[in-house]
Amino acid sequence: MDNASLPEQPSQKSVEKKQGDKQSNEASQPKAPQEVPHLEGHRQPSAQGVSQSEGAKQKNSKLDKTVAPQPTVAPKPIKAPILFTGEIPVAVRESVETPSRFPPKRIMLLLGLLGVGAIALLLGGWVALQLRQAQSQVTNPTTSPTTGTPMPQSTATTAPDGTLLGHYPYNVAPLSELQAIVPDGSIKLRKAAANAYMTMSAAARADGVNLTPISGFRTLEDQQSLFFDVKAERGQVATKRAEVSAPPGYSEHHTGYAIDVGDGSVPATNLSQTFEKTAAFKWLQANAAHYNFEISFTKGNKQGVSYEPWHWRFVGDRDSLETFYKARGK
Ligand SMILES: [Zn+2]
Repeated sequence: MDNASLPEQPSQKSVEKKQGDKQSNEASQPKAPQEVPHLEGHRQPSAQGVSQSEGAKQKNSKLDKTVAPQPTVAPKPIKAPILFTGEIPVAVRESVETPSRFPPKRIMLLLGLLGVGAIALLLGGWVALQLRQAQSQVTNPTTSPTTGTPMPQSTATTAPDGTLLGHYPYNVAPLSELQAIVPDGSIKLRKAAANAYMTMSAAARADGVNLTPISGFRTLEDQQSLFFDVKAERGQVATKRAEVSAPPGYSEHHTGYAIDVGDGSVPATNLSQTFEKTAAFKWLQANAAHYNFEISFTKGNKQGVSYEPWHWRFVGDRDSLETFYKARGK
């Protein structure tokens, strides 16, 4: 606060000088001397009103002494306008031109208030963060926070439920657990799922429906290129890409329980929402549950993943059930 008093000295002088200018203007009036006290009588309170300081009063009294002896030229019209031209511009000049004695104090006050506000904000944010962390440790993570400030981070990054861009994390199935479901061995599922799929596919064929496997188990590398390479190729932003493909580490295909199914009679509908119009889809809808397969991404699913009528997952043993249901909410 010491430095606040420093600028006062020069500014006082500059104000004084201006008062002097004003003085000479007023003094230049070709007027009767008794009018001057009248003017001063008006000016004095207003100077106080503007400055509210002893310095201003002192100046005015100094000026009073110098009024009389300077009858310079500069003619001015009448009294009322003089009051205005004499006083208002001074007030304006004082507040605008000179870094007079008020701004430093006001600036210091303002900075102080801003500082206090910033500290309060930081403290508030820190407290909210602590509350949120404490809460997530104590309560069930699936329940959404009921108190505290909503934090702006959870949507685009890993959410409290462990999802990334709407996809749950999955472990990659051990290769020893996998079994081929096509003659060339290029498409594999976990053994239990592979057996169930083969049985289901045979049953569909018996009904005249041609289920065709398109994609089963995927490694992290498979998903890496599916997500990022295609994303780059199509110029998609991550959020948009995630609507139709999971980031590596977050695909149900890692588990060996998920399979993309096409209709061998209508390959043009592969991996397209038009697949839902095919006989294969209708057959799956009616029968897949008997083989412990279910659709993963239904219309309007809560994960925000786009509707995938071709993507089915096996939930026919304890491990697959735990994989898709128990892990949720972590
Ligand atoms: Zn899929």
